[in-house]
Amino acid sequence: MNTIIEDNYRHKGLRKQMVDQLRTKGITDEAVLSAINEVPRHIFLDSSFVELAYQDMAFPIGSGQTISQPSTVAFQTQLLQVEKGMKVLEIGTGSGYQACVLAAMGAKVFSIERQRNLYFKTKEIVEQLPFRVKTFLGDGFEGLPTYAPFNRIIITAGAPRIPDALLQQMKTGGIMVIPMDNAEGEGQTMLTKMEDGSLRKEEFGDFKFVPMLKEIGND
Ligand code: SAH
Repeated sequence: MNTIIEDNYRHKGLRKQMVDQLRTKGITDEAVLSAINEVPRHIFLDSSFVELAYQDMAFPIGSGQTISQPSTVAFQTQLLQVEKGMKVLEIGTGSGYQACVLAAMGAKVFSIERQRNLYFKTKEIVEQLPFRVKTFLGDGFEGLPTYAPFNRIIITAGAPRIPDALLQQMKTGGIMVIPMDNAEGEGQTMLTKMEDGSLRKEEFGDFKFVPMLKEIGND
């Protein structure tokens, strides 16, 4: 593996500025901000983007996919209300950045990617980092029954519907955050599984996501 995992003062300074910018964009959860401050985002991007890694922008990561914008990562993570030791399932590993942010908050992260090349590329990067992230190649619609139930589930690709299998793999009191169209446009839906098995649904603002696709692919 040739990737040089260097996190120098310049990177750290840029990251701090990005965190300050996220505060001005309404991210208030200090645990989320501190995790974002900890995870070197430039490592998850192709080297040509290093200079831009700490701007609030999405970037291509190969295979037609993108690493989500930091403000989107921060917003979804804030909704998820992660606590130390929780089991978190992520659908859409992509670059692995979001998974590492969750792990930096103390979660045990299980992340599924359907795109074969991305899965292998990201696995190699994540294994060199000191975060508790386990990656899987598969269809996120099915979840990971072997490792269920989860305290939290985060979907990072636009979803056409709420996948049933994922609801079943969520603990009582658990929270799922899922990008779905709502009255605000392309937004975020937050589902909480109540004691009586019902779901509380809350909808939030406008975000752009690449679509969630079925099955494993090489496209
Ligand atoms: N969380 C990522 C952003 C991922 S973009 C990051 O931090 O970089 C969305 C990802 O979801 C893409 O990599 C895409 O290949 C993946 N994806 C789309 N549909 C999926 C599915 N059904 N199961 C698993 N992954 C899926």
